[in-house]
Amino acid sequence: MADVETVRGPIPLEALGTTLMHEHVFVLSEEIRENYPDSWDEEARVNDAIQKLRKMKAAGVDTIVDPTVIGLGRYIPRIVRVNAGVDINIIVATGIYTFNDLPQFFHFQGPGTLFGGEEPMIAMFLRDIREGIAGTSVKAAFLKCAIDHQGLTRGVERALRAVGSAAKETGVPVTVHTNVRNRSGLVVQKLLREEGVDLAKVVIGHSGDSTDLDYLTALLEAGSYLGMDRFGIDTLLPFEARVATVAELCRRGHARQLVLSHDASCYIDWFPVAIEATLPNWHFTHIHDDVLPALRERGVSDDDIRTMLVENPKRYFAKAG
Ligand SMILES: [Zn+2]
Repeated sequence: MADVETVRGPIPLEALGTTLMHEHVFVLSEEIRENYPDSWDEEARVNDAIQKLRKMKAAGVDTIVDPTVIGLGRYIPRIVRVNAGVDINIIVATGIYTFNDLPQFFHFQGPGTLFGGEEPMIAMFLRDIREGIAGTSVKAAFLKCAIDHQGLTRGVERALRAVGSAAKETGVPVTVHTNVRNRSGLVVQKLLREEGVDLAKVVIGHSGDSTDLDYLTALLEAGSYLGMDRFGIDTLLPFEARVATVAELCRRGHARQLVLSHDASCYIDWFPVAIEATLPNWHFTHIHDDVLPALRERGVSDDDIRTMLVENPKRYFAKAG
């Protein structure tokens, strides 16, 4: 049986169990945090994360897939500490998260830049996948990048093509943050196809923000998974619309290409307010507490639910070939 890399080392695919395909342990602005550490308490945050993830485990979740990459404050030693306190599988990623420019680090190296040369991101991604991340033994098991309302900027295109290149070379799957308003999932599919990536190994993230069945069907027909992965962010799309869209796609026989998640985090430093008050459902047990009962009420079978939460993640992480 093939293995998949996790924070605690490789595990058999069968051990993934119920898997939420897009959750963050921490989303942090690391350079800000290091220089303005006033509001950060390392022990308190780690312990809080352990408590939240234990609660999630108790609700029935075995594994989270954490697409926190460069640009979102990835720091693996902290994730290792958290995972030591809670019996779940955490799968981590490599990649770059930007909506427009790349970090300055990349501006003068790589194709089309002053010093040219190979795309440096590719070697970084390959090292995270093959050798481990930053001297830890933790290996990335998937690739992540983003495209949002700015569309295909030069920086976004470089990141997307570098992710595609590393995916083609290693066979590890890909998750891309997309924006449904400009249907950028279609742009992702076009570029990744050009880079030789198997679109059946791609999650078009945040597709669940859309109720546009024509758009979603086009993405499905190209073979990718749809990330119905922001349950609880009801300001972007209300609960009812999210549930109804998943139920309709299941009714049409697409459960094999849907994955479920919240895109929640134990802690995110982006918001000046207590986000729990603004988005009371944006937490790790909303799917088990509220979404699954609502899907069942709308006729979604237990089989389809198992397909979305267990079988699809397993197939996504199964090695190609
Ligand atoms: Zn996310």
